[in-house]
Amino acid sequence: MKKLIDKISATGKFTADEIISVLRDGTPETDEYLFSVADNVRRRNYGDEVYIRGLVEISNYCKNNCLYCGIRAGNKNVERYRLSEEDILSCCDEGYRLGFRTFVLQGGEDNHFTDEVVCAILKKIKGKYPDCAVTLSLGERTRESYQRLYDAGADRYLLRHETADAVHYGKLHPDTMRYDERMRCLSDLKEIGYQVGAGFMVGSPFQTYENLAKDLLFLAEFRPHMVGIGPFIPHCDTPFGKEKRGALRDTLVMVALTRLILPNALIPSTTALGSIHPEGREMGLKAGANVVMPNLSPGDVRKLYALYENKASSGSEAAEGLEILRRQVENAGYRIVVSRGDFKG
Ligand code: SAM
Repeated sequence: MKKLIDKISATGKFTADEIISVLRDGTPETDEYLFSVADNVRRRNYGDEVYIRGLVEISNYCKNNCLYCGIRAGNKNVERYRLSEEDILSCCDEGYRLGFRTFVLQGGEDNHFTDEVVCAILKKIKGKYPDCAVTLSLGERTRESYQRLYDAGADRYLLRHETADAVHYGKLHPDTMRYDERMRCLSDLKEIGYQVGAGFMVGSPFQTYENLAKDLLFLAEFRPHMVGIGPFIPHCDTPFGKEKRGALRDTLVMVALTRLILPNALIPSTTALGSIHPEGREMGLKAGANVVMPNLSPGDVRKLYALYENKASSGSEAAEGLEILRRQVENAGYRIVVSRGDFKG
């Protein structure tokens, strides 16, 4: 197993069967080895730096009905909210003061956020904070829309592919959502010039190790700049409310393998990872992740952006808890830096 891990690390090349073997046959000892190799790769490319992103959850309205997601349109138990331009700008003011140089505007697919509305917000943020990057994560839009948002100043876009297997994609989404359309969005974003983030959940319903191997084959081919990987966590008001959550160990293995395959990628240690284990964030960093995204959203709406149960939004997950996070990151052997934290190509 160690030889296999060394080979994947040295060449960046692998087969689906090799990935399945690492996932299926890995022992606690070989997993530790994998994490240490991944950590060496991240240190070679990014040293001990950890980049922070201020996450602003701008709306929990969503027209989609993803079967796993707590803010799906069909969930009538959610109290819906959307932030105004003024709210969003004051989150950025607070974030800038705290040392954030990237703001991530994320939300459900909310028709209120037309190109006009988002472009106006982008221009305000970029006008006030030209030294900051703005990342959008607003779901599927037309190519023209992505182009307009890019021209208005957006630097990066996060759109997880969710699964690189079209059949599995169909089991996680309603018929109105198409795998090919998700892939079209990702390739348009890349062609336009965004730093693009793909990603997936680990342990989502019906997922097999073969599916996870396909996710890595897709990443190796598409070569996104960022990759978000977190465990699936059930939400009681969704069709998957009674499903099992994704395993911590499998999630860490996927983070580490992603680091070997994409040595320069920006990989967040996700909120979902921090939500299933008190030290999940640190474990993610030690397995090859180099980004954290604390929550900058106003306190009164944080609980409403409930994608899954027990989503962490306080302490080190919260922007105002940056000191706690800083200590956790330092205890893990890394250092938070005040920087846009761009992709090092
Ligand atoms: N609407 C945008 C989109 O589709 O990309 C951004 C918001 S969406 C809620 C952000 C991500 O949350 C999704 O890509 C999905 O992977 C993750 N997510 C949703 N429900 C989840 C769950 N139950 N467990 C873990 N992650 C979940």
